[in-house]
Amino acid sequence: AFESITQAPPDPILGVSEAFKADTSSDKLNLGVGAYRTEDIKPYVLDVVKKAEKLMLENGENKEYLPIEGLADFNKATVALLLGSDNKAVKDGRVATIQSLSGTGSLRLGAAFLARFYPGRTVFLSNPTWGNHKNIFADAGVEWKEYRYFNPATIGLDFEGMMADIEAAPNGSVIVLHGCAHNPTGIDPTPEQWSKIADLIEKKNHLPFFDVAYQGFASGSLDEDAASVRLFVERGFELLVAQSYSKNLGLYAERIGALNAVLPTADLATKVKSQLKRLARALYSNPPVHGARIVAYVVGNNDIFDEWKQEMAGMAGRIQAVRATLVEELKKRDTKGRDWSFITSQIGMFSFTGLKPAQVENMTKKWHVYMTKDGRISLAGLNKARAGYLADAMIDSFDN
Ligand code: PMP
Repeated sequence: AFESITQAPPDPILGVSEAFKADTSSDKLNLGVGAYRTEDIKPYVLDVVKKAEKLMLENGENKEYLPIEGLADFNKATVALLLGSDNKAVKDGRVATIQSLSGTGSLRLGAAFLARFYPGRTVFLSNPTWGNHKNIFADAGVEWKEYRYFNPATIGLDFEGMMADIEAAPNGSVIVLHGCAHNPTGIDPTPEQWSKIADLIEKKNHLPFFDVAYQGFASGSLDEDAASVRLFVERGFELLVAQSYSKNLGLYAERIGALNAVLPTADLATKVKSQLKRLARALYSNPPVHGARIVAYVVGNNDIFDEWKQEMAGMAGRIQAVRATLVEELKKRDTKGRDWSFITSQIGMFSFTGLKPAQVENMTKKWHVYMTKDGRISLAGLNKARAGYLADAMIDSFDN
């Protein structure tokens, strides 16, 4: 039956980790996947997560199925974290929230929902975007196109290009927006620009689909990082939001996140929720409980919540410090006086270096530095001790 199957290419992001594992050099450095590492470049389990898990053990939590829509306490906590604890849309019952399989699964559920209830529309993704967005929509049978986002000349946002492409999109298109800490560029619109984007999306009757994978990781403030989504909700938009707890709670493997649909009426929210449940039932039936209990515990408990904010600020702070060290090390070695300030102005886990594919190959083949082909490095995988080595590799690669 399957004789004609050919080999699939390695995943552009997770394939980098596979190649890293196979490299035997002691110099090797994995800056591919966006996963937080400590200053010793070790994986990190947050203390608040350990506390939640200890309590779960003590309470003897069972492993019964969750309802299709997930853990009620989690759903309550996650929408409050996203939109604010006394958000009017939530109080009015206009938000349908479904616990889903982290950011990816929530986006995939949203894509399935669009395929069924908003057929024939095109989804517009930023160029560049997180590599998996294209797969997710394509596999759900939803056509995607791109809007301009990055200007290589300024290593900044191509705001005019972005606006022109959103304007040119057919009325009623779906516009995917990164809520904060845009991946891979680390460049977000300013509040004034967000407001203009909202004006245009409203004028064009487009449907915003926010991807919030780094809440708390961009500015260090959970509220500030949700400001883009909250602006759109305050303005009365109908919209979708996918949330992930992979990065901000370090729950990568627990697959915990949510899909939120904000609707004009409570009645419609109830109906939409029922259809999302129907889609989820066929895709994976019901979501895993472990991560949901952790999030519900951390977000729903004042003392622990404050502790989480401190731990998150610690993670964000370490990445910022590493960015600064890298810039210093680059300046020390750079004989051409280039401007490296983009590394400290970009936010979140990543830096979009501008290294071309051949230069990326030099980084990996000669220097054993693993990164994605688009020139993105994850600063979360770097420490101060290795910043000089990375600077050597970058200068050598830029100069060749
Ligand atoms: N969206 C973006 C922009 C991301 O960077 C990520 C994580 N790399 C995700 C969604 C989803 O990740 P996960 O499925 O692990 O939550």
